[in-house]
Amino acid sequence: MEQSGEQAGPYACPADQRTRIVATIGPASRDAATLRRLVEAGTSVFRMNMSHGSHADHAAVVRTLRGLEEELGRPLTLLQDLCGPKIRLGDFPGGEVFVTAGERLELVCGQGPREDGRIPLPIGDAFAALEPGARVLIDDGRLTLHVESVAGEVAVVRADTDGRIADRKGVNLPDVALPIPALTDKDRDDLAFGLEQGVDWVALSFVQRPEDLHMLRELVGDRAGLVAKLEKPSALTHLEAIVDAADAIMIARGDLGVEIPPEDVPVAQRQIVRRSRAAGKPVIVATQMLDSMMGAPRPTRAEASDVANAVYEGVDAVMLSGETAAGDYPVGSVEMMARIIERVEADEQFRGSLDAGHPQPGATDADAICCAVRRIAQILPTACCVTWTESGFTTLRVARERPVRPILSLTPSIATARRIALAWGVISRVVPDAADSEAAAECAARAARDTGIAEGGDALVMTAGLPFGVRGTTNQLRIVRA
Ligand code: PGA
Ligand code: MN
Repeated sequence: MEQSGEQAGPYACPADQRTRIVATIGPASRDAATLRRLVEAGTSVFRMNMSHGSHADHAAVVRTLRGLEEELGRPLTLLQDLCGPKIRLGDFPGGEVFVTAGERLELVCGQGPREDGRIPLPIGDAFAALEPGARVLIDDGRLTLHVESVAGEVAVVRADTDGRIADRKGVNLPDVALPIPALTDKDRDDLAFGLEQGVDWVALSFVQRPEDLHMLRELVGDRAGLVAKLEKPSALTHLEAIVDAADAIMIARGDLGVEIPPEDVPVAQRQIVRRSRAAGKPVIVATQMLDSMMGAPRPTRAEASDVANAVYEGVDAVMLSGETAAGDYPVGSVEMMARIIERVEADEQFRGSLDAGHPQPGATDADAICCAVRRIAQILPTACCVTWTESGFTTLRVARERPVRPILSLTPSIATARRIALAWGVISRVVPDAADSEAAAECAARAARDTGIAEGGDALVMTAGLPFGVRGTTNQLRIVRA
């Protein structure tokens, strides 16, 4: 457990931190005291990974976080991560076999356990899609097998190197377009649970095509935002359509780096970030960001650089996985990430780096106004940009501009307030509905003072859609004094 002995100190989600932190919750962090320290250290989004833990475990986390939210008076965001069609080996007697380079073995379609020495691969009808030459990667790519022949329910494979095969290990089939449903029965069950718990975002693993998200959307409706986890080569082929079909994107570098060569991952990351920023959809960089902090109080220099580079690229959020879920330094990892973010965002190169990836505004009323918000925040000494939003649309379009000042996002909807807190630069608050522009200005001034972003007399640049309560009508721009 936590041994760093550090206080959750000065980085308690400062208004001046633009890049958001997503922390995965697990045995190392699910107790109330640690969750509180994660919040204080700067975590905005809490990820519940459905690959681990029982519904009861996750429900307890939700209860604790909703209690903390109430107490702190600011929204906390819950992200449920569905396993998707993750393939795992079935069971076999003994639980492990050792293979030597060049050795042949047989995979058999089914769950196991097997008494005949064959290794069960439970992929149902998709087994027929295996073809000679296809790679079968075991345990995050630690062992590569090549398919030599397939006959009915049995495939003969050959090991590239020496290695160990243990039951239930993950399997990646990067050469096979898998004809398997995007949502498993477990996913549907987990999703029903998550929606009942009121999660704000639902992430789907191994998205292959935009239709996978359409299918999820039918089940979720507008009860949660959808995150597409990009970790399959086919997702990169359909990148544009998938970004359009999702509400946010996760660059799931763990499986992505197994499915495509590791040397291709940084290039893919940049492409995905550019595409997501252009679409104005929040983008999260995930996996191994501070991996060595699983067991050490300090990250490697390469890890610190990885987090920093993502921040320079202008991503909305950086994510911790095992570091916070199961590592020895869950709070220390968030503190370290927050410090790296703070350093980069204070660097004078940061602005230039953000601007290099700045997308052009679309020819719409909303984008024209958001572009003007960005300019005004550069010209006037402005405390913050204030967005009034019903669905989160206005806030996201302003965030897309990456303005120099923080974005104070105001909404009467708690669901919107929670969801939007994932986005770059956004400080999210629930406020009573404003009757007119005058009431909105007064409320904005008060909220800016209350959050400590502004002092009396500071300028705020406020944007809203009138009439209030109608979605997607960003048409007002005002300069307000706090
Ligand atoms: P996972 O997704 O942790 O659910 O596998 C993230 C990744 O693959 O990087
Ligand atoms: Mn994954």
